[in-house]
Amino acid sequence: MMKIIENDLNQLTKLLNRTQFDLYEVNESVEAILNDIKEYGDLKAFEYTKKFDKADISQFKVSDKEIENAIKNINPLLIEDLKLAYNNIKKFHEIQKVESYTLKDTKNIILTQRMKPIESVGIYIPGGTAAYPSTVLMNAVPAKIAGVKKLVMVTPPNQNGEIKDSLLVAAKLCGVDEIYKIGGAQAIGALTYGTETIPKVDKIVGPGNIYVAIAKKMVSGYVGIDMIAGPSEILIIADEKANPEYIAADLMSQAEHDVMAAAILVTNSNQLARQVVNAIERQIQTLDRKDIIESSLTQFGAIVVTKTIDEAIDIANQIAPEHLEIMVKEPFELIERIENAGAIFIGNYTPEPVGDYFAGPNHTLPTSGTSRFSSALSTTDFMKKTSIVYYSKTALKTSKDSIIRLAVEEGLTAHANSIAIRFEKENQDEG
Ligand code: NAD
Repeated sequence: MMKIIENDLNQLTKLLNRTQFDLYEVNESVEAILNDIKEYGDLKAFEYTKKFDKADISQFKVSDKEIENAIKNINPLLIEDLKLAYNNIKKFHEIQKVESYTLKDTKNIILTQRMKPIESVGIYIPGGTAAYPSTVLMNAVPAKIAGVKKLVMVTPPNQNGEIKDSLLVAAKLCGVDEIYKIGGAQAIGALTYGTETIPKVDKIVGPGNIYVAIAKKMVSGYVGIDMIAGPSEILIIADEKANPEYIAADLMSQAEHDVMAAAILVTNSNQLARQVVNAIERQIQTLDRKDIIESSLTQFGAIVVTKTIDEAIDIANQIAPEHLEIMVKEPFELIERIENAGAIFIGNYTPEPVGDYFAGPNHTLPTSGTSRFSSALSTTDFMKKTSIVYYSKTALKTSKDSIIRLAVEEGLTAHANSIAIRFEKENQDEG
């Protein structure tokens, strides 16, 4: 199921072109859902929840009782695991917080960049085919560190109108203020426009399927959004000393996300390539999501055999993968030469799930080659900058002629006048 191919970037780029959806149809239906929520609020939101999630609920808001029950019912060991992960994520994201700064100079000028949290944020937590408490942590922890006052979580309910215990417990642990049982484009519409019971927010973050992604794209600008995350990706650079069993396991750990996920090994060793193919065939038999993995690896999986590890680095830089694992003799020597990757995992004992769940850096990462210009979700994504400018009369007098000339050059004489008018009387007095 896993193809071994020569170093041919063209072939690889084709392989990674994963837009298989009929976007026209998705666009149309998402637009209709958003308009309905905008116009009819809760009424349509209930209708869509019944239609898509098969849940006939009468209230979106999760009650305190439901959260208490989740805490009671969940495996206590899982609470401890969530707490350990929470602490690691908190420690890493606290350092990202950017403080305000002020420049004062001797000519009576005060310039400040003021940092404030975004007031209200909605986190989308996918619910359709699985539940992701780790995604609650990865989105809510930096939001709370930034100081977001109102943190709202939305996630689709199951057919009984329930949310998985681990999601509620993770949300409680992070201090999420309100939780609503709603998913898909209708959830994005509700957070954007507000309904009778679901509040509108200033920014929406979090991953989701194609309906969620397109809805976020459509409301972007009206509210802030984080990024449009595509299907997951892993690229592994490995040399002849790497362990084929570990590589096979790691490739499949990404492939199980989605039939559209991409898993690529780039190696300078033909022998390793063949060993990995064999290891995949063997290991896949024991995995729960065998069908998804098989489909993903067949369509979007590849092993590229290069002449050298340098060539492998070039390929990684051009693909700019979401996750990059480096399994070579001296991995630390390669890191500086990696230009584009969402996150880098080093050596035999840092498989990517360490980062997904636990280590501390954010697991919301740029996909589809966008790590060339964008970065992991961080605390600053939940903050906004305002510049504050003060000029004294003396300061403005010193600079007025330059500002006026620049305004006139742009043909904006009202701009020039707003400077000049402040010194007219002075000029007359001096005259
Ligand atoms: P989801 O919550 O994103 O989608 C479920 C919702 O989709 C439903 O509530 C429904 O409203 C809507 N929907 C389904 N079919 C529809 C249709 N025909 N028309 C209109 N709306 C429809 O859950 P999911 O489907 O399981 O997708 C989760 C996605 O999130 C996966 O692609 C997964 O890989 C991704 N994910 C990414 C990360 C990350 O950090 N990048 C983390 C977790 C999950």
